[in-house]
Amino acid sequence: MKLGHRITLYSTVSLLVLLLAVNTSIYYLFHHYTLNAELERVLSQSRTAAEALQTYGNDQETAAAYMGASIPENGLIRIIRENEEVPVSVTKEFALNNIETSFTRQETTAHFEFGGELFASARTPVIWADGSIVSLEFIAPLAAFEETLGILRLILGIASIVILVPSFFAARALSRFILAPIKALVSTMNEIRDEGTFKKITIEEKSKDELAEMGRTFNHMIELLKKNFDKQRQFVSDASHELKTPLTVISSYSRLLKRWGSERPEVVEEAANAIDTESQRMKEMTNQMLALASGENEETLHFSRVNLCEAAADTARKIEAVYNRPVNVQCSKDNSVTLADEGKIKQLLFILFENGMKYSDKELDVSVTATDKRLTIKVKDNGIGIPESEQPHIFERFFRVDKARNRKTGGTGLGLSIAKAIVEAHKGSITVASTEGHGSEFTVVLPRKEVNER
Ligand code: ADP
Repeated sequence: MKLGHRITLYSTVSLLVLLLAVNTSIYYLFHHYTLNAELERVLSQSRTAAEALQTYGNDQETAAAYMGASIPENGLIRIIRENEEVPVSVTKEFALNNIETSFTRQETTAHFEFGGELFASARTPVIWADGSIVSLEFIAPLAAFEETLGILRLILGIASIVILVPSFFAARALSRFILAPIKALVSTMNEIRDEGTFKKITIEEKSKDELAEMGRTFNHMIELLKKNFDKQRQFVSDASHELKTPLTVISSYSRLLKRWGSERPEVVEEAANAIDTESQRMKEMTNQMLALASGENEETLHFSRVNLCEAAADTARKIEAVYNRPVNVQCSKDNSVTLADEGKIKQLLFILFENGMKYSDKELDVSVTATDKRLTIKVKDNGIGIPESEQPHIFERFFRVDKARNRKTGGTGLGLSIAKAIVEAHKGSITVASTEGHGSEFTVVLPRKEVNER
C-alpha cells in the first residue's frame, strides 16, 4: 500500500475509533441519567397518588375515581395485593392490564419493554381499607425518553460524519503535502540514476520544516558527491597527463636505441640514463598517487607516542646523506612528544626537507617548538622561493610552480598535497611564507594529543 494511502487510512481509522468511543460514552451516560430521571419522575407520581389515596380514602371506589383522574396518558395505575390480586386497575389502554403483576412492600422502580414499547414503573406501598398492605403501581410509557435517545443517536451520527468526511480529505491533503518533497526527491534520484548527472531538488528557501531540511541535506550531499566526482576525474586526467611525459621520453629513447643503438654507443648510454630517470620518476609518482588515493584520514592512522624532535633528527640524517648538505634541527627533546602516526609524520618531514633541499643549494634550518596545546615544526630554506601568486596553489595535486624548472628537480607536484593530507588527518595545519629569490618557510602546527586522549 502506498504511503499516502496508509497515512489517510491510519488517521481516518483512528479518528473513527475515537469518535465511536466518545459517542458510545456520551450515549450511555445520557441514557443512564435520563432513565434515572424518568424513573424518579414516575416514582414521585406514584408517591403523590399513594398519599392522595391515604388522605381521601382508599376503598375500591374512591381509589378508582381518584386513580382515573391521575392516570398517565397511555399508562396504567393499579393496586396489587399481596396475593397478586388486582382489586383496582385504571387504564385507557386495556392491553396494559396484561403486564405481569408483582407485589412488593418496598418502594421500587423498574423499566421494561411491553408490546415493543418501553415503560417505567414505580411501586409504592399503601395501607388498604381492610388494613392490609397493598402496592400501588404507576406505569407510564417512556416514549419521550426513547424519542430523545433517537434524536441523540441521529445528532451523534451526523456529527461523526461531519467530522469524519472533512478529516478524511484533510488527511489526504496532508499526506500529499508531506509526500510532495519526497516524491520530488525520488524523481530527482531516478533522473540521476537514468541520466548519470548530479541534480538538485528545488526547495522553498524560506521553509524551515523537516522536509525542507531533508531537501537541503540531499542537495548538500549531491554537491559533495559532485565535488568528489569532479576531483576524482581531475585526478585521473592529471595523473594520465603527468604519466604521459615520462612515457613519451621512454618510448622516444627506446626508438632511438632501436635505430642507432648498434652504431652509436654514446646514444646507448644517454638513452639508458634517460629511461632509468623517467622510470624512477614514474615509480615515485605512482607510489605517491597510491598514497593519495588511499586517502589520509584519522581512521587510517596508527597512533603511537611520537617524539617529533627525534623524528625530525632521524629524517634530517637521511636527507643529509642524499644531498650532502647539513640540515640543522633545533628543538627541546622532552616536551615534543605527542600521539601521532610515526610513519606518516616522517613522510611529512621527508617531503618538506626534500623540497627545502631540492629548491635551494644551501643549508636547511628546522625547528620544533612545543606548548601545552600544540607542536610547531618550521622548515626554512634559503632557496629560490615561491612567487606570491603561486603560493595558494602549491598544496594542490600535481601543481608545480615552474614545470620546466621542476622537471630537472624531478618533482611530481604531489608531495605537498600528500603533506597537507597527513597534517589534516592529524587535525593540524600547514602554511607557507616565501619570498621569491630569498627562500621559503613551511610551518606545520599539530595539536598536542596526550596518550589517554584517544
Ligand atoms: P614537487 O614534487 O614538484 O616538489 P610538491 O607538491 O612537493 O611537488 O611542491 C609543489 C611545488 O611547490 C613544487 O613544484 C615547487 O615549485 C614548489 N615548492 C615546494 N617547496 C618549495 C620550496 N621549499 N622552495 C621553493 N619552491 C617550493
